[in-house]
Amino acid sequence: MATILDGRAVAAAIYGELAVRIDALKKKNTCPKLAIVRVGDKSDDLYYERSLARQCGKLGILAETIVLDGDSWKERLPQTVESVNRDNGIHGCMVFRPLPEAGPEAEVCRLLKPEKDVDGMTYLSLAGVFAGVGMGFPPCTAEACLEILDRHGISLQGKKATVVGRSLVVGKPVASMLQNRNATVTMCHSKTGNLARECRGADILVVAIGRAEAIGGEFVAPGQTVIDVGINVDGAGKTRGDVDFAAVSPVVQAITPVPGGVGSVTTAILCRHIVEAAERKAEGGPQ
Ligand code: NAP
Repeated sequence: MATILDGRAVAAAIYGELAVRIDALKKKNTCPKLAIVRVGDKSDDLYYERSLARQCGKLGILAETIVLDGDSWKERLPQTVESVNRDNGIHGCMVFRPLPEAGPEAEVCRLLKPEKDVDGMTYLSLAGVFAGVGMGFPPCTAEACLEILDRHGISLQGKKATVVGRSLVVGKPVASMLQNRNATVTMCHSKTGNLARECRGADILVVAIGRAEAIGGEFVAPGQTVIDVGINVDGAGKTRGDVDFAAVSPVVQAITPVPGGVGSVTTAILCRHIVEAAERKAEGGPQ
């Protein structure tokens, strides 16, 4: 049976480290602050907002939600981002996605200052990930995958990694980050021929496709580490990964569970980015 890579334990360790850093910031009269921008009142967004506000509250991070509703949201969104950019008291900003339309989302990706882009959505933050330089912040979920590997002492250098999924939120940045850490990376997507062979050939398999339990036992081999990014809620309200845990865990060496894996670490990484943004500002960095 595989070792379970426990995301909740990783998150708890991060929160413990952040408590010390937030304390130090407060002694310098800086209280980290997040602005959440929500368009409309989608239930997924409201759920995430509540859990984020709760977690920020526990840590002593301020969280303010700016709600844009009605027909004027498209005009008000860029103005809101510009005013967040100017506000010295706000260290990080997260815009809930997907927005109802792609055009305004692309505008946010251009407008938001990378220093405040704690969710890693702007083109400059992504350029920083792809160039392997620290500009803005990497997307939280991609960073969460590497954090789990690092905290479990799983080395990346010289390893073969296969990433299934090529979104800008997960697949592409995680593949770049693995490559920047000297893994040899294969990227797969819906048009990949013989996906099972590409997956079986990896030492580290990262799956982010949004298809419940699509990766079964025929996709894996002994000795592998599997990171399951998927979050799929079925009709009965049960959360399932993209990997069929029951079929895969008896074969591989280590695997993240769902829930309690990558998703648990993602919020902790977001909080770490907010604290980092506040620290950079307190040290005189741009904002
Ligand atoms: P996405 O934007 O829909 O992208 C899905 C990717 O998977 C695409 O590149 C697609 O290929 C590929 N794909 C779809 N079906 C495939 C198949 N049968 N075989 C191979 N590749 C396939 O999704 P996403 O935003 O990256 O999210 C992926 C999963 O991660 C979802 O379950 C989502 O809920 C979860 N997620 C979790 C977190 C977290 O914090 N844990 C955060 C974000 C997302 P094409 O490019 O060819 O279409």
